[in-house]
Amino acid sequence: MKKQNTTDGEVFKKKLEQELTVLETELKTVGHKNPNNPKDWEASSGEVDINASDLADIADNIESYESNTAILKPLEKQYNDVKSALAKIKNDTYGFCEICEKVIERERLSAIPSARTCVAHKDQVRN
Ligand SMILES: [Zn+2]
Repeated sequence: MKKQNTTDGEVFKKKLEQELTVLETELKTVGHKNPNNPKDWEASSGEVDINASDLADIADNIESYESNTAILKPLEKQYNDVKSALAKIKNDTYGFCEICEKVIERERLSAIPSARTCVAHKDQVRN
């Protein structure tokens, strides 16, 4: 199987590293890394006050946690996709579809450097 050449890998690596930095910054605004599992991000509950005695405060915290979770989940998925793409560049397996193992379309990688599948299989990837 023909591999992507190294020049391409370098170009995409830069893009992916930039994307990773941006994603990490965004993730930090709504959550924090799980200390036991660096791939797992947990939503923060805003101004957390565990001793909140006021029911309204507690409700606010829950609401804030839920909206943070809604923001965090897709960011977390994207973050892990970018990380796995960077790992693939390192292992020289970058640019192949995870389903059919064919080379991912060049235009697709240019638009989404963290793509894990070719266009035909974009909805079939496991999360
Ligand atoms: Zn495919």
